[in-house]
Amino acid sequence: MTSEQLFEKAKTLIPGGVNSPVRAFRSVGGNPLFIKSAKGPYLYDEDGREYIELINSWGPMILGHAFEPVEKAVADAIQHSFSFGAPTRKEVEMAELIVSMVPSVEMVRMVNSGTEATMAAIRVARGFTGRDKLIKFEGCYHGHGDSFLIAAGSGAMTMGIPDSPGVTKATAADTLTAPYNDLAAVEELLLNNHNQVAAVILEPVVGNMGCVLPEPGFLEGIRSLCDQHGVVLIFDEVMTGFRLAKGGAQERFGITPDLTTMGKIIGGGMPVGAYGGRADIMRMVAPAGPVYQAGTLSGNPIAMSAGLAMLHHLNDHPEVYTRLDAIGDKLTAGFRQTLEKLGLAYTINHISSMFTLFMTERPVIDFAGAKSCDTALFGRYFHAMLDRGVYLAPSQFESLFLSVALTDDLVDRIIQANDESLRDVI
Ligand code: PLP
Repeated sequence: MTSEQLFEKAKTLIPGGVNSPVRAFRSVGGNPLFIKSAKGPYLYDEDGREYIELINSWGPMILGHAFEPVEKAVADAIQHSFSFGAPTRKEVEMAELIVSMVPSVEMVRMVNSGTEATMAAIRVARGFTGRDKLIKFEGCYHGHGDSFLIAAGSGAMTMGIPDSPGVTKATAADTLTAPYNDLAAVEELLLNNHNQVAAVILEPVVGNMGCVLPEPGFLEGIRSLCDQHGVVLIFDEVMTGFRLAKGGAQERFGITPDLTTMGKIIGGGMPVGAYGGRADIMRMVAPAGPVYQAGTLSGNPIAMSAGLAMLHHLNDHPEVYTRLDAIGDKLTAGFRQTLEKLGLAYTINHISSMFTLFMTERPVIDFAGAKSCDTALFGRYFHAMLDRGVYLAPSQFESLFLSVALTDDLVDRIIQANDESLRDVI
């Protein structure tokens, strides 16, 4: 069956035809590609076409697809069955490796997704502080837990439903929001809700309204406000963890959160998440403490094997990060050159292997900036790139994720495709 036929059938069986909303190409139009396989920097769809990958499963495939050590680890692991629901050696190895790689993490608990990690992290922060409220930033996405579907980015933003029906008023009332990069707004919320805020959660570099960087001093300012007000600072590093450095954004920016949520790369492509941080806070988690959190498949041995192979490789090969920085620099320099040539003043936000070309002339430092983009133009640009064999995130409000599998030749091809596509659509 072709992608189109599969999508027609899927729509009768699965809501919107997909198991996660942005996959549906809703905001860029057209039918989603159904992917059959992937190798290195390439995706292959059910229609027999090849694409250069700039999504990489929304982050996890930082080493390219079908990376051999991960494949081998999974193949070895399945010789011993799939799941035991009992502790395994691999979970201890995984915890030890994460603690050694991520600067602020002293203890860690494995879960099955980024969503689970963030839901658990705020519960722990609430249990630890005895407070109910939470501050999040407009346009940040922390998974689909009720408390986070307030001014949410990513698919929720793309679908025009940043505040989802089904979240109770009482839950929503406990989530306070501030514009990203606006320290004064956070301070005001903390003063107006004195001793009521348990946690501030943020993406230290945002990927979910497109790539948005913290302004100089923003992360430091948040750290110090949290200290002053006795608030648990949670870095949601589901995207940035193991990507911006082996220790994530906290290593790259030198800021230490109290708790960190992780996902994506940590599973090497398998469904894995984790949350961890200060030992005194993590000891609140059952059975060490009273805050309940559990999971039938948490720490699953196959998933741990994939994640361990991935993280060991990243830990042992610092040159991966140098290479990712170089690929990102080369690609964005090429994009900027085209913009200049065409007299376009669109904004490019970039750090290492994350970047977004925003179809707006405004600087994008927050939700309002991101929302000023011409999404119809982005839709045309997306399809022009796809026609040239480059697979971008099908939404303006996402970061692209580069992998080390991209060679210089492929980067040149992407720059060329971008040049031609922009000429086509403006
Ligand atoms: N937090 C961030 C920053 C994310 O980008 C995402 C997903 O994209 C999540 C949490 C949720 O992770 P998952 O989709 O694994 O539930």
